[in-house]
Amino acid sequence: MRILLVEDELEMAAALRAALAQHDMVVDHVTTLAEGEEAIATAAHCAILLDRQLPDGDGLTLIPRLRACKQIAPVIVLTARGELGDRVKGLDTGADDYLAKPFAIDELLARLRAVLRRAPVMAPDRIRAGCLDYDWHDRCATIDGVALDLPRRELLVLEALLRRRGRTVQRAALEEAVYGFDDEIQSNALDMHVSNLRRKLMKAGAGLEIHGIRGVGYLLKHAA
Ligand code: CA
Repeated sequence: MRILLVEDELEMAAALRAALAQHDMVVDHVTTLAEGEEAIATAAHCAILLDRQLPDGDGLTLIPRLRACKQIAPVIVLTARGELGDRVKGLDTGADDYLAKPFAIDELLARLRAVLRRAPVMAPDRIRAGCLDYDWHDRCATIDGVALDLPRRELLVLEALLRRRGRTVQRAALEEAVYGFDDEIQSNALDMHVSNLRRKLMKAGAGLEIHGIRGVGYLLKHAA
């Protein structure tokens, strides 16, 4: 998932980048309105985190330009100006959410998930990997039209691996995908879900293999 971060405070930007990277997000960071405009013209982002007080102007002015390029990515405005009038102005300009600094990274992540849930249009409805079709809307995996029966956590593992298929998914990112904030994570539980999923994919002839990368995570790729 690719996020555009428009923020001129470098310390804040570095902290956000690190936190988002841990959650399997790729961050394009720019520090000015002008660079922000260039970034929205050159890449599709799933969401935009936008500071208001930028060296070359008010971040809010980027939103109408974004919409003019038919970019539907949700925008969360991050700003020190937390007063009600500014909040209303931000939302009226077309921002999807508004977060006053200082904020907890966890709150930002929760709000990001919320705006992404409301904007499912960015993701294709279905993907095909090997012989497996996955419907993101129905959350159903099928192989040759036959649905694969997966318990919730195996399904979450599959989704996380499919999102980054062909690349290694870090263990922490998988745990984040599979467990909620309040879940207790038992040390071998993730490996068990992965191993069950691996067996089911193989048995159903998915044409996909899950490789364990020792000390790092797992990788989903086409069967050799
Ligand atoms: Ca600023």
